[in-house]
Amino acid sequence: MASTKQLPLFESWGRYPRLQAAELAPIHWSTDFPRQSVAPAQLPVGLGRSYGDVCLLENGVLLETSGLDRFLAFDPSTGILRCEAGVSLAQILDFAVPRGFFLPVTPGTKFVTVGGAIANDIHGKNHHVAGSFGCHVRQLELVRSDGSSIICSPERNADWFRATVGGCGLTGLITWAEIQMRPIVSPRIDYEGIQFHGIDELIELFKSNSGIEYTVAWIDCVSTGANFARGIYMLGDHSDVPAPLVAGGKAKLNFPVDLPAVFLNRHTMRAFNEVYFHKQFGKRVKSLVHYEPFFYPLDAVLHWNRMYGKDGLLQFQCALPWEGGKEGMIELLRAITRSGLASFLAVLKAFGDIPSPGMLSFPMPGLMLALDFPIREGVSFKLLDNLASITREHGGRLYSAKDARMTAEQFQAFYPQWQEFSRYVDPGFDSAFWQRVTGRRPIDG
Ligand SMILES: Cc1cc2nc3c(=O)[nH]c(=O)nc-3n(C[C@H](O)[C@H](O)[C@H](O)COP(=O)(O)OP(=O)(O)OC[C@H]3O[C@@H](n4cnc5c(N)ncnc54)[C@H](O)[C@@H]3O)c2cc1C
Repeated sequence: MASTKQLPLFESWGRYPRLQAAELAPIHWSTDFPRQSVAPAQLPVGLGRSYGDVCLLENGVLLETSGLDRFLAFDPSTGILRCEAGVSLAQILDFAVPRGFFLPVTPGTKFVTVGGAIANDIHGKNHHVAGSFGCHVRQLELVRSDGSSIICSPERNADWFRATVGGCGLTGLITWAEIQMRPIVSPRIDYEGIQFHGIDELIELFKSNSGIEYTVAWIDCVSTGANFARGIYMLGDHSDVPAPLVAGGKAKLNFPVDLPAVFLNRHTMRAFNEVYFHKQFGKRVKSLVHYEPFFYPLDAVLHWNRMYGKDGLLQFQCALPWEGGKEGMIELLRAITRSGLASFLAVLKAFGDIPSPGMLSFPMPGLMLALDFPIREGVSFKLLDNLASITREHGGRLYSAKDARMTAEQFQAFYPQWQEFSRYVDPGFDSAFWQRVTGRRPIDG
């Protein structure tokens, strides 16, 4: 039986909302679950790198899975890795890169667990060629609160697989998973950065580079006039020139304190965007870079979310279908620049058409926009509500892993399959997110 520790506050990456769990229950062995005495509802959590409330449960039991951190099997002839669900992507890279393998899909941080990556069916810069993380999960074990275990895969108990991939931790505890890794001969990435001006130019770049494995754009969401929607389009492929297979290092910096809100304002953001746009000399720049700064530039500074001050941050992330997506994106960007609230961390990407395996998976073919906002009383919530409405009008959807705001009505319109999904929810499980999007928890403001 696992010991129980009382309590620091378990926060999501956005640090909003702040909800106190009744208990944090560390899970070190799969036999620690189900727990013997369970009164309130429970929810598995990984490293809390989701932004909103998918990893929160007020007055419930949070099952901390980072102790499920063992590798179980690896076949170098096929690249199939089996590991426990609390293993982080950072641990996988440390293990796999020296052996000539890389993650099939990676988000913008390596500090997420395999369980978290599956439960949010995360995507990366290679969505247009690789699909979402769930596309590379060969099988997993799901343990329910009644103690039953379901091994599921795209072929076996396929309905449970579809519910659990992207199922926001609500179908049960994932204890282990098997992932298909991809081979590499070098830890380096052939990188190219191209400055662009405007959405038309960017869409053209996405279309003409669809054969490149990793593509993403940083977009300036502050500047207006001739500089509206300018940015840097970033491309990368794993280098095919053999080089010593050295994994990335550890973070060297730590953001020590909550920055007072006054530091993140219209002027500092404008200055940052100006500098960032001109960080490369010339319209096109090529270089050979280690995968670490290419995929995980933010991981170099631990706790960088403190930069947003003690009130935390909100992330807005939406996908829009190709049809009408360009117009929708321009409308979103106009609303964001007008607000003066955007941060420098704005990312735009084209999703491909490889179907995601999960019932509630986020990606859809089209355009995707993600950016952070500081929480400012009276303005941030209004802006997010407006952006959600624009997204809906253009047939898009919001990403549950990043969201703290969408209403039950919006969620149910974005994810009409939610009713089918709800049949697979473990009766002993719940989350603040699920309470919100099923209309059982009100949103602020
Ligand atoms: C800097 C940064 C960049 C990011 N970039 C991207 C990106 O490019 N693409 C993207 O898709 N996401 C991105 N994310 C979001 C992040 O990848 C996801 O939120 C991820 O799910 C977090 O994993 P975690 O281990 O921290 O899980 P948590 O945030 O703790 O939990 C996430 C969900 O997984 C469930 N869960 C966790 N473990 C288990 C388990 N063992 N069994 C069942 N359910 C479980 C939880 O209940 C919860 O619903 C980014 C986040 C940050 C902070």
